[in-house]
Amino acid sequence: MVEITLDEAQKEVAELRKQLDEWAEAYYSKDAPEVEDNVYDQKYNRLLELEKAFPKLVTPDSITQRVGGQIDNEFTKVEHAIPMLSMGDVFSKDELREFDQRIQKLVGHPVEYNVELKIDGLSLSLEYENGRLVRASTRGNGSVGEDVTNNARYISDIPQTLPEPLTIEVRGECYMGKEAFAKLNQERDEKGQEVFANPRNAAAGSLRQLDAKITKKRQLSTFIYTWVNPPEYITSQYQAIEEMHKLGFHTNETCRKLSTLDEIFAFIDEYTTKRDSLTYGIDGIVLKVDDLTIQQELGNTVKVPRWEIAYKFPPEEQETIVREIEWTVGRTGVVTPTAVMDPVQLAGTTVSRAVLHNPDLLKQKDVRIGDTVKLHKAGDIIPEISEVVLSKRPADSVPYEIPTTCPSCGQKLVHLRDEVALRCINPSCPAQIEEGIIHFASRTAMNIAGLGPKIVKQLIDNDLVHNVADLYHLTPDALAELDHFKEKSITNLLTAIDNSKRNSVELLLTGLGIDHVGSKAALLISQKFKNLDKIMVADVQDIASIDTIGTTIAESMTTYFAQPEVQKLIEEIKESGLNTEYLGADSSEEIADNFFKGKTVVLTGKLEHYTRSKFSEKLQSLGAKVTGSVSKKTDYVIYGKDAGSKFTKAQNLGVALLTEEEAIEQIK
Ligand code: NAD
Repeated sequence: MVEITLDEAQKEVAELRKQLDEWAEAYYSKDAPEVEDNVYDQKYNRLLELEKAFPKLVTPDSITQRVGGQIDNEFTKVEHAIPMLSMGDVFSKDELREFDQRIQKLVGHPVEYNVELKIDGLSLSLEYENGRLVRASTRGNGSVGEDVTNNARYISDIPQTLPEPLTIEVRGECYMGKEAFAKLNQERDEKGQEVFANPRNAAAGSLRQLDAKITKKRQLSTFIYTWVNPPEYITSQYQAIEEMHKLGFHTNETCRKLSTLDEIFAFIDEYTTKRDSLTYGIDGIVLKVDDLTIQQELGNTVKVPRWEIAYKFPPEEQETIVREIEWTVGRTGVVTPTAVMDPVQLAGTTVSRAVLHNPDLLKQKDVRIGDTVKLHKAGDIIPEISEVVLSKRPADSVPYEIPTTCPSCGQKLVHLRDEVALRCINPSCPAQIEEGIIHFASRTAMNIAGLGPKIVKQLIDNDLVHNVADLYHLTPDALAELDHFKEKSITNLLTAIDNSKRNSVELLLTGLGIDHVGSKAALLISQKFKNLDKIMVADVQDIASIDTIGTTIAESMTTYFAQPEVQKLIEEIKESGLNTEYLGADSSEEIADNFFKGKTVVLTGKLEHYTRSKFSEKLQSLGAKVTGSVSKKTDYVIYGKDAGSKFTKAQNLGVALLTEEEAIEQIK
């Protein structure tokens, strides 16, 4: 390891932990990773390396000392009598050799391994009493998991009853096959919903559902590989799998008992090749000491069993042919090239598009139509072209010509200042308007449920919407004319749009999509100026005086609001009845602790003591977030007379319900 002082190491360790915790939160809780696994693994291994060099820095809360998952409070908790651990991993055959040497040294002789595929899913525990499935749970944080029994009842390969009245616990992997995964993502894409990054996240997102009927639709499967505390006649891992198979569990038939490293390496090579043709995703192979008594003797560390290790496959690379280069116009007018290629399977997903970011990068990589390119997913989940395979370039190939006009409106494209990006600066460019409305409705901005890209396009194509203000003038009759709009979807969409009128102004400010102004800046600015009128007339100095806001943001704000067409739009927005006041608290730190601080609250029904908006204001001043619809994330639903669907939904999701009087009591 490079020379590094304790102070430097301490700083790096803190940064690594912060980053890894953030990534782990996205991966385990939201089932939506922010980076590829190998990026996570590299940072994780660097943290391990530093903690090894400076043992003083090891703390129990480090991600290296605990199982990474978290528990969603919406689920009933299940305590695991025997912890569900994580697994050590290695990335090369040499490291596997070292693992084997370590085991031999500890045991005193060579051992046999049961070698299994590492299924890309999430761990699941199944408990049976007298032969009946009584509980299914996720790994959670290793000691406490989430109760997913109802969901597991909808996974067809999980036996609900066993052929014998056994009281046992088995564990394995819950996964989504490649075909089901592709179908699910296609459906989500068509509905304008976010797609899952990989089968593992799709499986986790489908199993961890409060509404088990969603799980039912998702086609999950399992491979069971662990018998917790098996009966005495079972002495090896291999035998445990055989016996579980006999009991009706779905086990993976590829596992093999192997005793030499050469055999193990041959198994790895075999599945590196076969991997793509399997109907389920794998991300490595697992080596388990086969003898259960030796396993017991070797025991566990705080995080992983000592008797098993995962060999992770290196990130994949695939060759494919570029057929077209597509140019798309973003919300700010930036025009981005994307290579469209023959579809290939890459690290568990079918890939046919790779963003080339800007014309400079395209020129630098010299990607041409007809070129064979190498594709990888390293560094990001988004596929990237690593390089052109020049030896396969067709003889008649010509350099790609960068377009000079906007693919949407035909106006001349420009480079602003020293930007590498190519831009369309036509404010009426239809593509920009479309992207702008998609952004306005997105979750970080006005959060209009159901208004995804497909529907926005439909509204624009049918001339119903020309800017964000038009959304608030949509009528049931106009929507009824469109394809796929039925009474229920019309009501849902219009209600979501109407609810968004009451959003605090920072969401509106985010939604306007001003260059450089993200949700954090929008919040700080709204907290300072309190309403849109004041925000619009604030000067650069005033805005830049806010801590962490620089002149780039401030200048972008003032330039934006100085435009007459923007002022006209804001007038229309106000006329449509949108709230333009800041409804939140000054800053959450300044609010004294109270029952509602930091909680997400929904109001429903007829309130008797306050108007809805006054009650919202009161709650927001206490640091609560008041939203329009009930979800898993809602902490409390406060209800008045004649409460309807929100009340029922809260009951179904198990969200805490408070009467208006009970809420007032808490406020007091
Ligand atoms: P892991 O997923 O690498 O390995 C342990 C798990 O493997 C077990 O819990 C089990 O569920 C599973 N498994 C699959 N097949 C198995 C088999 N045949 N036998 C036994 N277990 C089997 O470990 P982890 O702690 O769940 O997660 C750590 C990994 O998750 C990291 O290495 C990283 O790649 C990934 N991760 C990625 C991100 C990200 O942002 N991309 C964030 C956090 C974690």
